[in-house]
Amino acid sequence: APGSAMLDGEPPKELPKGVVIGPDGKPCRTCTSSAAWKQMLKQKQPSSTKPSSSPTFPPTATATGVAAATASTINTFDRADCPPDVEQLGRSSWTLLHSITATYPRNPPVSLQQETRAFVTAFSKLYPCWTCAEDFQAWLKDDRNAPKVSSREEFGRWMCEAHNAVNVKLGKERFDCDRWEERWRTGWKD
Ligand code: FAD
Repeated sequence: APGSAMLDGEPPKELPKGVVIGPDGKPCRTCTSSAAWKQMLKQKQPSSTKPSSSPTFPPTATATGVAAATASTINTFDRADCPPDVEQLGRSSWTLLHSITATYPRNPPVSLQQETRAFVTAFSKLYPCWTCAEDFQAWLKDDRNAPKVSSREEFGRWMCEAHNAVNVKLGKERFDCDRWEERWRTGWKD
């Protein structure tokens, strides 16, 4: 499958900036931007297998080994049906999380509030980018950041603040949390 060849081979000795290593000692695709990943694949590739200027589809990885597989991996990297990089994973995850808050009940029963807290905890442990997950767990440990789940309004704002904490960490602008519902539930008023 596109993107998997590198995971089975040895990583290059010097990794490009931004490539994150996973707990298994191999480059972590879901922790790394596609730009950095592509750079790493280019570094690994012997010059004889560098991709031509016109990419071939479908991928042509064959018995010629990892190098050929790597070449076709680069050629097919921009396909839409590849494993997600850290940004695609993040955008999809935030879409799910904010959409959950948008459909959360205005007055949830206590049992659902408990399940929602448990969901947030489990999510923070299962998130597929391990560096992101560790930071998110650390953020959640602060009592001031405990999930607020007693109403849709509260949960939606809490999720917005959680997202803002990541935005700030990444040097992005904070989102105006007064507008979380327009962004994720009602659509923009203006
Ligand atoms: P995103 O940040 O994905 O946002 C998508 C859309 O949500 C935006 O276009 C905007 O309309 C809206 N939005 C933005 N901010 C808010 C907000 N505060 N409230 C409501 N709506 C908002 N990436 C890393 O590189 N390193 C990390 O450590 C990391 N940690 C993450 C932790 C978690 C729990 C999650 C879910 C994602 C994490 N990400 C991390 C991914 C990162 O947050 C982004 O998703 C990714 O960088 C893509 O950013 P983006 O600019 O496309 O927009």
